[in-house]
Amino acid sequence: MARVGAAVVKTALSCIDEDELIELTRALIRIPSVVRPDDPGATEAMVARHVEVWLTKQGFDLEVQEVAPGRPNVVAWLGEKGAGKSLLLEGHTDVVTEGDPVEWTHPPFEADLVGGRIYGRGAADMKSGLAAAMVAAAAIKRSGVALGGRLVVGALVDEEGDMLGAKHLCTTAIGRELDAAIICEPEQNELCLEQRGVVWARVAIRGRMAHGAMPEAGVNPITALGALLHEVPALERRLRRLCRRSPHLRPPTVTPTIARAPVQGVEQPNVIPSSARALLDVRLTPGPDEAAVVREIDAACRRAMARCPGSTVEWEPVNGFRLATRVERTEPLARAMVAGVRQATGRRAVFGGVPGSTDGTILRTALGIPIVTCGPGNRLIPHQVDEYVEITELVDAAKIYVASALNFLQA
Ligand SMILES: [Zn+2]
Repeated sequence: MARVGAAVVKTALSCIDEDELIELTRALIRIPSVVRPDDPGATEAMVARHVEVWLTKQGFDLEVQEVAPGRPNVVAWLGEKGAGKSLLLEGHTDVVTEGDPVEWTHPPFEADLVGGRIYGRGAADMKSGLAAAMVAAAAIKRSGVALGGRLVVGALVDEEGDMLGAKHLCTTAIGRELDAAIICEPEQNELCLEQRGVVWARVAIRGRMAHGAMPEAGVNPITALGALLHEVPALERRLRRLCRRSPHLRPPTVTPTIARAPVQGVEQPNVIPSSARALLDVRLTPGPDEAAVVREIDAACRRAMARCPGSTVEWEPVNGFRLATRVERTEPLARAMVAGVRQATGRRAVFGGVPGSTDGTILRTALGIPIVTCGPGNRLIPHQVDEYVEITELVDAAKIYVASALNFLQA
């Protein structure tokens, strides 16, 4: 059964304090956590500290995991795993840059509350989701419900970068014992059982330097670069054939995002450079394994090389492979959440898909556990100016986490 007694859920739901949730979300937004590599003081540390203090005050056991200097994960838990399961409510503490603050109607780090919305960088992505996870866990704790397993809240660093926080968590004891995770990213509280994958293919192209007046004396890597870009639509078509179609995800795309030549030296109009560089942002839906994706990108590089004799076109993935993820609706976590949405909101669950990858991609790949992405905030609003979250969605998210966790952990 993926549903516990209505009374148990009702009791725990009544322990959610909406004002507390709103204030916690605003407090987290007011602590800027844009990671600026040239400023060692600009990390997630202050937000992590706030999370740690808050959870400690609620009486949670927790550990602070130093992932990198000044970049701590905070992981708190409730209950013992014992013979039961361990469920993670996951959020990240970093936010992307606010850009030019002048473009914001509501200042990016003031957490304005206007018209039922909270504004600010991270309002949707994802200090609201993180706050909802924390308040949900606190509500379960306050309700006194005995869990048939362990509920873990993870506030992780670096999701917007290399996902170091999630990678680190997977190497720790509490991480390795996880059985499932709810990723609290902004998906307007839809249940996303699928996430697109991403491979960033960094392509290095080599030719041979020569005088621009005598191209026959060299090999122009820009010609090979052009040939590679020409191959992009064919590569995209081939990947679309390999990948499964999904009603919730856009089909695979291949998008060149960097094209550069010369790579070294001074730009001069009469010099054929020796090398060029490109980056292809490859987005995938579930289906092919790593080897199959490698074969297709290899083939595209070989075809580009063949059009430019003498050149070499090679690629490597930046940051490894983040393949698409998918869990079935029959998975206990999915069933617990379908029931949870109904219990928490009185509505039927709506299914969706995640357009990009998340920390959940790492957890799914490294630990092999089922993940469902579900959190407050419009799916399209992250990384925009005047980012916001609707308070009704925020509150619903906390309720959904409470009911789903109780169902999954068989409270
Ligand atoms: Zn996010």
